[in-house]
Amino acid sequence: MTTAEFKPRPRLPEWLRIKLPTADTFSRTRSLLDELKLHTVCESAKCPNHWECWSKGTATFMIAGDRCTRACQFCAVSTAKPLPLEADEPMRVAEATRRMGLKHVVITAVARDDMADGGADHFRQTIEAVRKLSPGIVIEVLTPDFLDKEEPIDAVLSANPHIFNHNLETVRRLTPSVRHRATYDRSLSVLKKVKAKRGDSIYTKSGMMLGLGEREDEVLEAMRDLREAKCDILTLGQYLQPTLKHLAVEAFVTPDQFAAYGEQARAMGFVHVASGPMVRSSYHADEFTLPSGPGR
Ligand code: SF4
Repeated sequence: MTTAEFKPRPRLPEWLRIKLPTADTFSRTRSLLDELKLHTVCESAKCPNHWECWSKGTATFMIAGDRCTRACQFCAVSTAKPLPLEADEPMRVAEATRRMGLKHVVITAVARDDMADGGADHFRQTIEAVRKLSPGIVIEVLTPDFLDKEEPIDAVLSANPHIFNHNLETVRRLTPSVRHRATYDRSLSVLKKVKAKRGDSIYTKSGMMLGLGEREDEVLEAMRDLREAKCDILTLGQYLQPTLKHLAVEAFVTPDQFAAYGEQARAMGFVHVASGPMVRSSYHADEFTLPSGPGR
């Protein structure tokens, strides 16, 4: 356990205060997810945009259970021995996607290091089920690193997601203290592999949390490393401590600094960049429209 748990949480700056919603879309989203017994990373990771996204009728599905085999110091998803996969979960995700009328779906999963394929085939089945019930939908997957193995990556790619997202999460120096089992180079390698296998027929995407103690030169180095891995899309957002047991926030990065990073990222060649305090991997993911339609 880190010493982080003894630090009092600092007061949030104005730009991070959440405005509560009034729309009843939030409760409709809640009921639908309850009815179909689905997990979302919105809830499991205590995402600060939970109210906003659900009020707009969007959510990020988290498949393969809600127990993760890893224990990253920034993440609120529970670490525990996972339960067996539920064979009907892909269909339930597909049904929720259809009923929510999503045009762009984001599907993520806990890390299943207990399984030989890391849960990759479950991703494949979910993508296929979603496409069956919602033809024409843009499908984005946010995957674990699958230990950088070829077969699981191939399994996910075989279902032809439009966007393959795998987060770098933080800069090289901080990776060992922020992530559990994952390495900086392995994450870059996963992104490189996807591009090497699929080229321009897929968009790759990655994201980092800022405010963990990283320096500006380290952020720029990570952005360059991602471009070197031919990563197309970048998200940068403020890290917020989900509970007192998690890593403390070291700095609140100002909106101006986020904007400056965004400009630098665009200058490096990322085709789409979302950089701001409330940005998360899946926040406003549908704002990125595929330039030449799905399956370019
Ligand atoms: S930003 Fe992503 S994880 Fe957070 S509430 Fe929105 S859809 Fe869910």
